[in-house]
Amino acid sequence: MSTCKACCENNGSEKKRLRIAIQKSGRLTDETLKLFKDSGIKISSNKDHLLAHAENLPIDILRVRDDDIPGLVMDHVVDWGIVGQNVLEETTMQRELDGMYTGFNEVLKLNFGDCRLSIAVPTEDEWHGLADLEGKKIATTYPHLLRRVMKEAGVNFRSVLLTGSVEVAPRAGLADAICDLVCTGATLQSNGLKEVETIYTSKAVLIGRDQPLFPEKQAIANTIIERFKGVMSAVESRYIMMNAPKAKLEQIRAILPGAENPSIIELEGSTDRVALHAVSREKVFWETLEQLKALGATSILVVPIEKMLG
Ligand code: ATP
Ligand code: ZN
Repeated sequence: MSTCKACCENNGSEKKRLRIAIQKSGRLTDETLKLFKDSGIKISSNKDHLLAHAENLPIDILRVRDDDIPGLVMDHVVDWGIVGQNVLEETTMQRELDGMYTGFNEVLKLNFGDCRLSIAVPTEDEWHGLADLEGKKIATTYPHLLRRVMKEAGVNFRSVLLTGSVEVAPRAGLADAICDLVCTGATLQSNGLKEVETIYTSKAVLIGRDQPLFPEKQAIANTIIERFKGVMSAVESRYIMMNAPKAKLEQIRAILPGAENPSIIELEGSTDRVALHAVSREKVFWETLEQLKALGATSILVVPIEKMLG
């Protein structure tokens, strides 16, 4: 990937090159880059370049703060963006208030960036429900998402807007509670807080501008969408192989998780046993293997799948 030398706007690339905004550096970055790599999109690891061209495909990558990604898509500056639903929804509400355009398409839900937006209070506080927060100060980076929930619950509160270190606010005397993103809950615990209410669950999504793309770009987009889907389904899928008694094939097929149309192959020198190969679209647990063995299957192999198409 080479750096952009201000060439992108004036050589017709707007019609041909798919421009994607991704988080420059943060919790979505590694997974996004891995998805690109696994999908065959080669991107340089030099994070200092705002815009870079993929080496092998007509794709440009714009590296920005995640908060800017929904706006870049809604303002039609980029074709696609990868962002958390939490940021997408919060930005949409802010832009609606500001009278700005909020149109976009959700192209694909991605299999990373899972987190939840939760309310947490000091561990020693009693908790009966959202009504406990009446008249209280709540620190958050997501005032609109919080306000929506509190409005529905009919609870009045004061929001303290913090864009970082939200979890220290109660201890620092800045707020009575917080509304922040949680993944494991460990950060809350180490700050003397307990999670009491989840108000929103989120994952990363691929969004696109709500306008048809130029045909050449649409063709690239379709290819990439198929590759992304292929990478994501390969993550969970396994290729299962075993030798099995013909008489037990029906029972064996019934317990294979998410397996479609297995291949049944004759085994040389055997009339009562066959080889069975199948792609399982779900995780394969030890219990399933033990059940297969109990049905007489032998040489059971479960192998990961690197790529999957169609
Ligand atoms: P930026 O500098 O780009 O503004 P940021 O500090 O706002 O970054 P990150 O903390 O990198 O954002 O999180 C980016 C997104 O990752 C979140 O908006 C959320 O969708 C997702 N995410 C996944 N897991 C977590 C988690 N444990 N805590 C916070 N966010 C998470
Ligand atoms: Zn951010």
